[in-house]
Amino acid sequence: MASDPADPPRTVVVGGGVAGLSAALFTARAGLPTRVVSAGEPILARNAHLENYPGFPAGINARLLLEMTRDQVEAAGAAFVDGTAVDVTPVDDDSEDEMRPDGDGGSNGDDGTAFTVSLEDGRELSADSVVAASWSDAAYLDDLDLGLIDRGSKRYVDVDEFGRSAVDGIYAAGRLAGTYHQAIVAAGHGATVGRTVVEDSDVPFYNDWVAPEGYFTGRGREVPPGCEEIDEAEWQRRAERSAETMREYFEDPAVEPPTMHPSVDHDE
Ligand SMILES: Cc1cc2nc3c(=O)[nH]c(=O)nc-3n(C[C@H](O)[C@H](O)[C@H](O)COP(=O)(O)OP(=O)(O)OC[C@H]3O[C@@H](n4cnc5c(N)ncnc54)[C@H](O)[C@@H]3O)c2cc1C
Repeated sequence: MASDPADPPRTVVVGGGVAGLSAALFTARAGLPTRVVSAGEPILARNAHLENYPGFPAGINARLLLEMTRDQVEAAGAAFVDGTAVDVTPVDDDSEDEMRPDGDGGSNGDDGTAFTVSLEDGRELSADSVVAASWSDAAYLDDLDLGLIDRGSKRYVDVDEFGRSAVDGIYAAGRLAGTYHQAIVAAGHGATVGRTVVEDSDVPFYNDWVAPEGYFTGRGREVPPGCEEIDEAEWQRRAERSAETMREYFEDPAVEPPTMHPSVDHDE
């Protein structure tokens, strides 16, 4: 997927659970226009208290973690689209200049294949890459020759170690890609896949790092693309903002109750 830095490739992430959110965080921060199509609640909302997600020594309310992560992804520039993906189709060469209902237009051709992601309500989103993070729904990928794996009643997308499927530009992340059923594993996998989308896009990129001033330039190096050097005043300011923001998230100890499994009958 070659790309012009002035016109970076568009990414559509299907699924707003921890895997999709983490993938979107990395693509958005790298400057790729990113939309997260999200239907329904992430499965982590069923958790009663999350005690094995690193960084929270006393555990964390899972719904609060989802809210914080979603806010972070939004702040990174990703847009959220409420809706259900029902189909993903490659855009054929003949429709290269066609404008679609969302006004994106097609951009396929020598540089790679573009896709149309169709939603249940008829909206269509254009994408140069699609990250499927939609546990447990892979039905909208049926028309692509991806290699779906059936295990019992569950269906997974067959991907390589970086989340690439058999179709260029289509990736899968988290539980849908067969990761362990653990939040941090799904989130980490989402990050790997988001990072791979950036890598495959040819957008100039080294790593998504924030380093102290002089870390690169003090050695006569340019600050590599994707990295940032910040001075002491700035890292102090960010630390203060971080503390203040976290205080706000955690100031109200009242928590939403977890979502029960749909087959548990509350009336009995
Ligand atoms: C009761 C319970 C407790 C748990 N407790 C823990 C725990 O303590 N520790 C731990 O590590 N893990 C726990 N887990 C597991 C953890 O929640 C999951 O492994 C992890 O959240 C999976 O993340 P994901 O992003 O892959 O999938 P999901 O969170 O399921 O995200 C997928 C999202 O995609 C959406 N979607 C699906 N189809 C479509 C479509 N066609 N279009 C648009 N959107 C779509 C779904 O609605 C969902 O929001 C628990 C799970 C459960 C059920």
